[in-house]
Amino acid sequence: IAKNNGRSQFSFFTRSLQEEALNRLQLSADLRNAVSGGQLRLYFQPIANLGDGLIHKAEALLRWQHPTLGLLQPDEFIGLAEESGQIRKLGNWAFAQAAQWSRKWSRHLGRTVQISINKSAIQFESNGRSMNWKAYLDRLELPHESIIVEITESVLLNASSKTADKLLELRNAGLELAIDDFGTGYSSMAYLKKYEVDYLKIDQSFINDADNEASSRTIAESMILMAHKLGLKVVAEGVETKAQRDWLRSVGCDFAQGFYYSAPLPAKEFEELLYGTRRQPSLA
Ligand code: C2E
Ligand code: MG
Ligand code: MG
Ligand code: MG
Repeated sequence: IAKNNGRSQFSFFTRSLQEEALNRLQLSADLRNAVSGGQLRLYFQPIANLGDGLIHKAEALLRWQHPTLGLLQPDEFIGLAEESGQIRKLGNWAFAQAAQWSRKWSRHLGRTVQISINKSAIQFESNGRSMNWKAYLDRLELPHESIIVEITESVLLNASSKTADKLLELRNAGLELAIDDFGTGYSSMAYLKKYEVDYLKIDQSFINDADNEASSRTIAESMILMAHKLGLKVVAEGVETKAQRDWLRSVGCDFAQGFYYSAPLPAKEFEELLYGTRRQPSLA
């Protein structure tokens, strides 16, 4: 049976691979118009302070409202955008939006509402004249620490001198730095010192597994201890339950982010949560 089926399965497989390649090509072409066509959306996921249970910050996450395919998630277009270099345009758009919302929310509440923004490796590698984030914040008269730049461990590990220079430039300008998905890559302590990183974001896999695996709990707790000794603050990602929240608070984790608090929300819905004009789950 296997042999008979093998042939048709093979042709089916190649046809779908071709289709897949065409779809990717089409999507990549569509992406060129996404910024100018006003199709990008920036969602915000609250980051709660475990000390007082209040929302202090948010992570900005891209979505793409595609004209025919609907609302696309990052895993459907960020990789494409990185391959084609379009991530620079998308990233600058996201940064500018994040800065404008941070200004509005900070002024309304009378305290800095930090927004963290993801930055891919190739956004550091551009040769051409790149957008000057510091100058943009100055034009908005926004304190530089309003923006936290999230990078993964691999960015630091493989950093060319150009990337290292740009990172230190951001750092010296007063923007804050966070290591995203910590624990999934080559977790080196050396670079945490070199770049004076502000936040360590524990990858959600450790938080998820914490319910069943003592080893994941031990690893997460060790990360928190280490980070604190180095003067970093810790954000736990992917917090989905009260039990996880309680455990993280009891072991001194500083901040938590995840579905327990809220999924990523459109700016206006996040704003209602932040201003307290929207019903929330019991966060305290
Ligand atoms: P990330 O930076 O690690 O973002 C966290 C992801 O975890 C988000 O997925 C978020 O929706 C999801 N998440 C949050 N809480 C929970 C939870 O409690 N449980 C579970 N299972 N998942 C949770 P999202 O929005 O699909 O983003 C995926 C990735 O896409 C991001 O991972 C980031 O690496 C990338 N990305 C998103 N926006 C941008 C951007 O503007 N620029 C760049 N370069 N990358 C971006
Ligand atoms: Mg998602
Ligand atoms: Mg992130
Ligand atoms: Mg992450």
